[in-house]
Amino acid sequence: MARQISCETRNNLRGMDNEKKRSAIFSKGLLQSGELYQYLLETNVYPREPELLKELRDMTATHPRAIMATAPDAGQLIAMLLKLINAKRTIEVGVFTGYSLLRTALTIPEDGKIVAIDMNREAYEIGLPVIRKAGVENKIEFIESEALPVLDQLLEDPGNENGFDFAFIDADKINYWKYHERLMKLVKVGGIVVYDNTLWAGSVAMPEECTPEILREGRQRTLEFNKLLAADPRVEISLAPLGDGITICRRMH
Ligand code: SAH
Ligand code: CA
Repeated sequence: MARQISCETRNNLRGMDNEKKRSAIFSKGLLQSGELYQYLLETNVYPREPELLKELRDMTATHPRAIMATAPDAGQLIAMLLKLINAKRTIEVGVFTGYSLLRTALTIPEDGKIVAIDMNREAYEIGLPVIRKAGVENKIEFIESEALPVLDQLLEDPGNENGFDFAFIDADKINYWKYHERLMKLVKVGGIVVYDNTLWAGSVAMPEECTPEILREGRQRTLEFNKLLAADPRVEISLAPLGDGITICRRMH
């Protein structure tokens, strides 16, 4: 009991019911306060967020799993990276209602292409009308499937080797390393792979016994993945502490 109280104090969750705890964990991103996160969103992110992207974000907000959508500040970083490398062919693993997908589709050029993979088409269909309204559906090849076999299938065509400029990975954390192994062949040297949720609500730095139950498994997966990535000589990395933690990898060789 004593340990329980000390963990809750440590995480500033003391006296909250589960619902409150959940919103306290996720509402401020990784920053010190909700106010600071709001400041960042309101001054830098929302005023520049394309109208239809906002529409998609609003539509997603009422979804029971809305928490899964890519954070708008993370979306802004993705757009910046795509522009910096002039990305044209990209891969997206984990589409949900399509926030990061639409962000990508709006950023790449008219003849750009995105291979977008999710094993659940239902959520994608929520965002699809907005994607159509934005006139970018033609850039998207949506594949309803587990991601791993699709990446393997892509690799069967030698034309796809080093064929992509960019990938955004935001699905099941348990497979992140397997995705990484495939992406080191699919994405060209100098290309970028971005992994989402690599700080897992800050839990990577919590002692296990202080980690709220809902975060424990993901925390373990994330710790393992971050360690492997940090030791991978094929990539340069930068873990940006925005959104829920975004690791940017640049393939070096
Ligand atoms: N990038 C999205 C959020 C993705 S949420 C956005 O901006 O809103 C994670 C998604 O990964 C879910 O839609 C889930 O269906 C998908 N997913 C989970 N495991 C998967 C797997 N093994 N293969 C493909 N998709 C998977
Ligand atoms: Ca995510």
